[in-house]
Amino acid sequence: MSKLVHVFFILILFPLYLNAQFLEDKVKPPKIHDFASSLQFLASPGLEGRETGTQGAALAADYIASIMQNIGLRPFYQGIRSDLKLSDYFQPFKLIRVNTVKSAIDISLVKNPEQQLHLLQYNDYKVNNVFRSLTKESDLVFAGYGIVDPDLGYNDYAGKDVKGKIVLVMEGYPGQRDSTSIAWKKFKTASDNDIFDLDYKCVVARKQGATAIITINKGFLAAKPGQQLQKSNTSAKDEIYTKAEYTFPANNIESIVSCFRLNFAGSDKLASLLGIDFPKTEQEIAEQLSFKSVELNADINLTTSTAIDTITVNNVIGVLPGKDTSQTVILGAHYDHLGKRGNTVYYGADDNASGVAGLLALAEMWTGSHINPPCNILFASWIAEEKGLIGSEYFAGSLNSPQQVKLYINMDMISRSVSEDTAACQLSIGTCTPDEYLRELARSINSTLVKPFTLDLWDVTGHTGSDYASFTAKNIPVMTYNTGLHNDYHTPRDIPGSADLVKMGNVLKVVNGCLNCFIEEINANAAH
Ligand SMILES: [Zn+2]
Repeated sequence: MSKLVHVFFILILFPLYLNAQFLEDKVKPPKIHDFASSLQFLASPGLEGRETGTQGAALAADYIASIMQNIGLRPFYQGIRSDLKLSDYFQPFKLIRVNTVKSAIDISLVKNPEQQLHLLQYNDYKVNNVFRSLTKESDLVFAGYGIVDPDLGYNDYAGKDVKGKIVLVMEGYPGQRDSTSIAWKKFKTASDNDIFDLDYKCVVARKQGATAIITINKGFLAAKPGQQLQKSNTSAKDEIYTKAEYTFPANNIESIVSCFRLNFAGSDKLASLLGIDFPKTEQEIAEQLSFKSVELNADINLTTSTAIDTITVNNVIGVLPGKDTSQTVILGAHYDHLGKRGNTVYYGADDNASGVAGLLALAEMWTGSHINPPCNILFASWIAEEKGLIGSEYFAGSLNSPQQVKLYINMDMISRSVSEDTAACQLSIGTCTPDEYLRELARSINSTLVKPFTLDLWDVTGHTGSDYASFTAKNIPVMTYNTGLHNDYHTPRDIPGSADLVKMGNVLKVVNGCLNCFIEEINANAAH
């Protein structure tokens, strides 16, 4: 070796070598063959779309538990048993499931009772939050958007007595159709954070003492005069959400306000019966920043009958115990999906067989590495995400000390791209605003990839799109990974054949890299 080469080695190559050592993960990321078969199996026809409370979901839970057992994760169950059972990996809990079996709405005008409107479920409206049978006759009261917000100085219920009555409200918020209006500026931010959604309107109506709310469709409000029924208003997607309602047994279902969501056709029929120009009402509210009462002079007769049963469902959880068991990092991905409609299976390959397959592959790399991590690493697969983040909410609620959870990493839909992203280079990672450390971590790990992603680092505050929200609600730092909302989302077209396994492998490199660094950080802190 010449002197010059020697100097070159010490000055240039050695620091590079050191740097490479530093950036290299202690635990290697999984490869395609480590996760492809799980994705394929979880989204196969036999699992029938893994809907909460079905045989398909139970099969998925068994599959996940069996992998956890095979790769040597410790079960979530902490008692003493001589032989390990799959169910030891389960965190079981009960849910009330309510199906609306029959429902009808009849509305007539007080002055002219012959003028009647008979609305039918699915044709004219969908039900939401219907947890009990109901037979109710009352007058119908119009309450603008159904918003009461003292901070914004706005009250749609001002001066109205709606106790025991059925209330009509418009979907959305003041100014929603005019981005130049003052109302839009005032209400937009809150609306972006899903504040004025249906659940909100049901809760407000409940506080006012109402029995049920009927909502005028947003698409109808936005339609041009004379515009006909839009196909999208009767999409299968809506029907999926209204098939059944789920809640914890501890919740008082008697007090929940039922919501009947008129579609375009139903809204159109009701507007003509009542003779109300809803778009004009919207415009007036946007201009005056208040809702002036409109008398409907209409009677409503509402009947629904429901069937209630109690089901036991399971989160599936395995633990890699750490040196310090008082600290935990959690990785999670929901395994439930939408199930079947008739004979049509909603496979949910991207949503979220991809996340679960990634979770199990990462778990296998970590158990297979035989390292003893400085803290517990918990690998969890949630049930009932599609029913309202229920499984992760139950888990987060069962934590004795949430502050011992140092980080929650969520994976939900990590194998596709939005249609505009033809180069498949987008990756979105959500964190809380103050977490510049996690953002910087994501950026630096991403930059080590051969082909780095275009990162969309967004703020999860106020958002409830996936299970991360159950953890932000407990002030636990989160990182949530997603590759984009594609056109096959929540359709039967979300199949394994469309999964981009190369992209998914690269996403898992980022997840794994962040996990390695985060664990290393905990290790360094423990050493001091
Ligand atoms: Zn999902």
